[in-house]
Amino acid sequence: MSASCPASPRALSLDAALARLLEQAPTPSTSEPVALAAALGRVLAAPLRSPLAVPHWDHSAMDGYALRHADLAAADGWLPIGQRITAGTVGAPLAPGSAARIFTGAPVPEGADTVVMQEQCERDGERVRIPPESKAGGNIRRAGEDFTAGTEVIAAGTRLGPQHLGLAASLGLAELMVRPRLRVAIGASGDELVAPGAPLGPGQIYDSNRLTLGAMLTALGCEVIDLGRIPDDLEATCATLARGADAADLVIASGGVSVGEEDHVRPAVERIGTLALHQVAIRPGKPVAFGRIGDTPFFGSPGNPVSLFVTCALLVRPLVLRMQGVGGDLAPRRRRLPAAFAWPRPDKRREFHRARLVEDDSGQPRVEVFASRSSASLRSLVWADGLVDLAPGVAIAPGDPVEFIPFTELLH
Ligand code: AMP
Ligand code: MG
Repeated sequence: MSASCPASPRALSLDAALARLLEQAPTPSTSEPVALAAALGRVLAAPLRSPLAVPHWDHSAMDGYALRHADLAAADGWLPIGQRITAGTVGAPLAPGSAARIFTGAPVPEGADTVVMQEQCERDGERVRIPPESKAGGNIRRAGEDFTAGTEVIAAGTRLGPQHLGLAASLGLAELMVRPRLRVAIGASGDELVAPGAPLGPGQIYDSNRLTLGAMLTALGCEVIDLGRIPDDLEATCATLARGADAADLVIASGGVSVGEEDHVRPAVERIGTLALHQVAIRPGKPVAFGRIGDTPFFGSPGNPVSLFVTCALLVRPLVLRMQGVGGDLAPRRRRLPAAFAWPRPDKRREFHRARLVEDDSGQPRVEVFASRSSASLRSLVWADGLVDLAPGVAIAPGDPVEFIPFTELLH
C-alpha cells in the first residue's frame, strides 16, 4: 500500500481497537499455588499481606557497640564490654553502665537504645570509648520500621520479578497464589511456508512467524500450543482454528487476514465463530482480525513478519497480560526524544517504525530509524532496539521531538 493511501473509514484507531480488545478479554477467576522458585513471571492472584513485621525485631544496622545513651554522661566515655552479640544470636539484657559488642543484623539487647558504629569508637581490650556526641537512638532498625504485619506488600495482578520473589522469601513464604498460565494456540497460515530445517522448494519461504509469535508469548508468561502450519484452504483453516479454540484460552493465527481470495482465516472465523474487528489504522499491521471461536478469543495478525511483530507488541501483549490478570496500566512507557532523521512523507495512518537510539555529539540520545519501510524485513527488527510512534500526517525534521518505545517495554 502506498504512503498516500487514505486511512480506511472502517479502520479503528489503535487506542479504540485496544480498548475493544481489552473490554472483551476474559479475566482469570482461578488461581493456583506455585513454589517461589517457579513463580518468576507469574501473576499474583490476590494482594500479598505480610505475615510478619519487618524488621521482625529491633536490630543493629551497623557493626559497632550497643549501649544505653544515658550511661554516656556518667562515664568518662569508657564503657566495659559485657557481651558480644553476632547475627543469629540473642544477647542478654544490657547490664547498666556497659556496652555490648554487636554486629550488623544482630538483635539489639534489651535495655540498649543506641548503636554507635565501630569506626567512631576507640577500643582498649575489654572496654570501649564512645564519643560523647553520639546520637541517641542511632543505627537501630526498629521492629516494624519498614512495615507492620498485615501490610499489603505486593498488589494483586503484579507480574512477579526477582525482587518480588525475594520479598516473599524474606517473609518466610514458600509459595504464592498465582493465576494459571494463559494457554495460547498459535498457527501460521500459508501454503508457501516451510518449517526451518527442511529444504526450501520453489516459491517457498521459511515460517518465521510461528517462532517469533511463540517466543513473544513465552516471554509474556503464556503456555504455547503449536497448531503448526495452516494450509490456504477454508475447511482446513476452520478445522485447525476449532482445534485451537478447544485446547486453549486464546487462538492466534498469522497470515490470511487480508481480503485476498487466498486469505482464509477471516472467512473461517466468520464461519465457525464471530469476527469483531478487522482493521486498525496503523502501519504496518492494518489488517488484523479479532473475534471469538465459541468462548475462546481469536486474534489474527498480518503475515508479514514485521506487521506480526508490531501488532503483537501493541495489541496481543496487553491482551495476554490482561487475560492473565495483570492489573494497572498496560501501556508501554515511552521516551520523548529528538529525531536524528527526516520523515518528509508521513502516512495517513499512525506509523510504528523500527528505530534505535544513537548519541549525538554531546552524548544526548536521539532516535534513528531504519532506512526501509518494508514490513517484510526481519533484519530491521534485529537492527532496531525499539519503535518510534509517528503521528498520522505529521512530517518530521531532524531535531523534532518523537516518541520512542524501547523493545524492553514491548517484549515482556
Ligand atoms: P498474508 O498475510 O498471508 O497475505 O502474508 C503476507 C506476507 O507475509 C506474504 O509475503 C507471506 O509469504 C508472508 N508470510 C505469511 N506468513 C508467514 C510466516 N509464517 N512466516 C514468514 N512470512 C510469512
Ligand atoms: Mg497468506
